Amino acid sequence: MALQPMAIYKLLPKKNCKECGVTTCLAFAMKLAEGKAELALCPYLSAEAKATLGAESGPPVAEVAFGRKGASIRLGGETVLYRHEKRFVNPTALGVEITTSQSDAEVDARIATVQRTLDRTGQMLAPVFLALVTDNTDNQRFFAIHKQLSDLSIPLLLDAPAELLASAIPETSTRPVIKSPAANPDFHLELAASHDLPILVGGETLDGLAEASRYAQAKGCQHIVLQPQAPALDDRIGAMVAVRRLAVLSRDCELGFPLAWWEQMGDPELAAGLAIMRYASLLVLRDADWARIVPLLVLVQELWSDPQKPISVTPGLYTVGNPGADSPLLVTTNFSLTYFLVTGDAESSGVPCHVLLVDVEGQSVLTAFASGKLTAEKVAATLEDFKAAEIVSHKRLVLPGLVSRMSGKLEDASGWTVDVGPQDSGRLPQYLKGYSTTTGAML
Ligand code: SF4
Repeated sequence: MALQPMAIYKLLPKKNCKECGVTTCLAFAMKLAEGKAELALCPYLSAEAKATLGAESGPPVAEVAFGRKGASIRLGGETVLYRHEKRFVNPTALGVEITTSQSDAEVDARIATVQRTLDRTGQMLAPVFLALVTDNTDNQRFFAIHKQLSDLSIPLLLDAPAELLASAIPETSTRPVIKSPAANPDFHLELAASHDLPILVGGETLDGLAEASRYAQAKGCQHIVLQPQAPALDDRIGAMVAVRRLAVLSRDCELGFPLAWWEQMGDPELAAGLAIMRYASLLVLRDADWARIVPLLVLVQELWSDPQKPISVTPGLYTVGNPGADSPLLVTTNFSLTYFLVTGDAESSGVPCHVLLVDVEGQSVLTAFASGKLTAEKVAATLEDFKAAEIVSHKRLVLPGLVSRMSGKLEDASGWTVDVGPQDSGRLPQYLKGYSTTTGAML
């Protein structure tokens, strides 16, 4: 919200009734200004206040949805320039281009790419849409590929002449994005407006983008995606940054829309990663190379994770393989990455084991220890909470080597014998192969 707290306060009822959850209207105004409260929390707003503050309280980058009903892909909705200020909202949607001149085998390969997923730290990552582009005059080919994609309910971005779109849109099983041509865009804009669909409009300069957005809005389009189209890479990246700054800092109503990046012939490999880091909400890749897509998916996951909320796993007693009562018991924290590394390394040892995750609010072992969240008392209580002594027949646990200095205290607090494991989970396979729950000693 761009309005200052006092300007907001002037529009509030000044009843100080506390129904919004804070003690005074002034405090509520300050929360609204910081984007930390919803307008709807105050039941006494006048129509004028609702209209004025309502217009200001939406995200500065409008949210645009496309794709499957009930599982739509959301673009934009962003409120900040930098992730550490709050967090980013809707992760970049990655898609792959399909053209009508490609062979059946190429089309099938690209379809297969958007049906693949990457399981990383418990989250399923994937490219999520296909951009169908006509690059020849074979209309039947366009309709055939469109039908194939529609039958599979794959979310689509459609870049085709108006007459093809007019026939294809009613047959599309998902809500597509339409790409507007630079010249004679009227029909595409009217089509998007009449079907209430998102429209992708481009411009080589900031003025060009603003003009394209203004024109689309004048034609009745409400869901706009902006694509900087300057020929030079640095100009395009510069435009992405400028658009986001104007949207967030000045609430520019012509540029307050999600940004698209469509790879161009000759773009260097790293350009897609740069575009993700510079606010691309929609990213179209020209090829379907999974080895290229994986790091981009990981980058998106990292950037869109909440910096104030580590990715965590539910604390508890987990298993690797089919452990018995005499299998080793490993202790670690509930930081997601730690969990996946430890269980993955334990699995590769071939030794079934139990893994106890201590709730340290999703921090890694050393961070949790340094911040006082991983203590001997906490581990002892977690052993009790999850009835570890009833699951295993021994009373030995393996503590991460990084926190070996708490082993004595832990033995006192829990009554368990503590064996110090490796500092790096990568050495767990070797450690577990030689570990004995009878003696703790390396065999
Ligand atoms: Fe003021 Fe409205 Fe909050 Fe009551 S609910 S304290 S009137 S802002």
